[in-house]
Amino acid sequence: MTAKKYIGIDLGTTFSVAAFVDRTGHVICLTNEEGESLTASAVWLTDEGKILVGRAARNQAAIQPDRVALSFKRKMGVEGASFKLGPQVFSPEALSAEVLKSLRTSAERAIGPIAGAVITVPAYFGDRERHATLQAAALADLAVVDLINEPTAAALGYAFDAYTSGGGNPADFEKAAIASTAPAINVVCDLGGGTFDVTVIRVNGNKFDALATGGALNLGGQDWDEVIVDLIEKHALRCGSPDPHYDPAARARMRFEAERVKHELSVRTQVEAAAPYEPAEMLTVTREEFENGAAGLMGRCSACIERVMADAKLDWHAVEEVLLVGGATRMPMIRRRIAEISGRTPSTRLQPDLAQAQGAAVYAAILQFQGKGEPRSVVVAKTKGRKKSAKVSSAQGNAKETDGLIQDGEHWIEDPAFRAAAEDVRISNVNARGLGVMVRSPRYDKLVNRVIIPRNTSLPAERSQEFVTRFRGQERIRVPVIEGDVRNVNECVQIGECLIEGLPTELPAGSRVNVTFRLLNAGLVKVEVQELSTGHTGQTTLSLAATATPSLGAEDTLDEDLLAAPLRELAQVVAQMKR
Ligand code: AMP
Repeated sequence: MTAKKYIGIDLGTTFSVAAFVDRTGHVICLTNEEGESLTASAVWLTDEGKILVGRAARNQAAIQPDRVALSFKRKMGVEGASFKLGPQVFSPEALSAEVLKSLRTSAERAIGPIAGAVITVPAYFGDRERHATLQAAALADLAVVDLINEPTAAALGYAFDAYTSGGGNPADFEKAAIASTAPAINVVCDLGGGTFDVTVIRVNGNKFDALATGGALNLGGQDWDEVIVDLIEKHALRCGSPDPHYDPAARARMRFEAERVKHELSVRTQVEAAAPYEPAEMLTVTREEFENGAAGLMGRCSACIERVMADAKLDWHAVEEVLLVGGATRMPMIRRRIAEISGRTPSTRLQPDLAQAQGAAVYAAILQFQGKGEPRSVVVAKTKGRKKSAKVSSAQGNAKETDGLIQDGEHWIEDPAFRAAAEDVRISNVNARGLGVMVRSPRYDKLVNRVIIPRNTSLPAERSQEFVTRFRGQERIRVPVIEGDVRNVNECVQIGECLIEGLPTELPAGSRVNVTFRLLNAGLVKVEVQELSTGHTGQTTLSLAATATPSLGAEDTLDEDLLAAPLRELAQVVAQMKR
């Protein structure tokens, strides 16, 4: 029987990486045509109509910015998002598919046919973005065994490294564990090109439980590039050059130069930067100047870390290791600040931009050993009325639902220690954002978000709350479902709604209505609303991070306060009697 090969893919905002576990149980990062492990997540449509992915495309952004797409991961799953490259328009999914195709082709050249992949996604990705990722894989003809949250992948990558560097004592087969057997709490800080994510993970033997997760969607290495772009721009103006701010090609050149300077400043204390137009002289950028300019960004990073630690209700004494992930954690200012906050030297045993792909590869191998590695077909998304089917197994945390089992002879990894270790790895997650309903606060007569499942609740989770109907004869109940952690609905996102219609006309105001949320895994929520006196029920399943048109009126929503509605009904009755 031919051994099936599964790879792990870190599909990043700026760079993507593919890795796999070889026959001896070692994790290998696969290289692309240029011989590099990092493939730029950049797509270039050449003048001849050819699509090129990777470094050449990224370089071309400085020359032909209108024919190159960058950072499209930020738009995954966003309704109607598109990128115009020359005369053609691409969806973020189609662009991601080009990156996946390129990774698959390089991988197949190195190790032969690929049966499937585990792809990493940010912990805060909702179902919509996850489906967009699956859709990209389908377009790239890549079977997906599972998706894994990025921080979990990184923790797994680190844990596996600890296991392999521990020597894998053959006498220890029975007890072999991928992770150290002592329970430990690790904090994964991931500063990539576009986002900053912080996740607290408890590793206990082979169990990986995310305890809290959070971060900032628009805080990444690119923002540090902008600090240097600002310095170059000011320098250009001082030298009497035209204002480069409004020239897209000059801006692209500056960004490119800024990134190079940023990288060099990670190892040197001052670097020469080229101005966007000749013949302006070079600008010397010092690390100190750069760090001063980025002080605000550093402050945002610190606030994210502190918020996640507070959510996890943890003190730094309880933390074993701080793991650095994402290329931008190479900046000395990040390492220094994290060391100051945490009181420990952050771990950099793995290359920060490869750790997630390595963890994804380990997870792919683990799923095989657990007999869950067979991809299956499901419909993943509708694109403009067209359904595209992709191969995907159940989402993580729900792995029991996966059907196809792999036969023993199909395992390609022969290392018995890996096998023993892999067999009982378990992963669990938390939700990144609170989930609630929009109800009316009778006290203030305004719509508010009443959180039912707070952020960072262990998944799967089920919670219920009771509300009341607003007025007598309310025939319809509308329950808008909200993602967000605060009461102010304007700071939250509505992801859908659940309806009950046809209620009896004599139903009194203040009738009790139970709302139950079942958050299945990172991505889907089942909502059930039941009017308790009649048993009328409404049900729906919604995707997290979906965006629905916000409900404005309060007429057929529910009331928050259990006492207020009966009082109002009494007032209505009194008013009627007076008439
Ligand atoms: P990732 O998404 O993990 O590949 O991270 C990409 C980000 O890391 C980009 O903003 C890169 O410019 C940044 N990066 C990579 N290497 C370095 C380095 N040596 N110093 C500073 N930033 C870096």
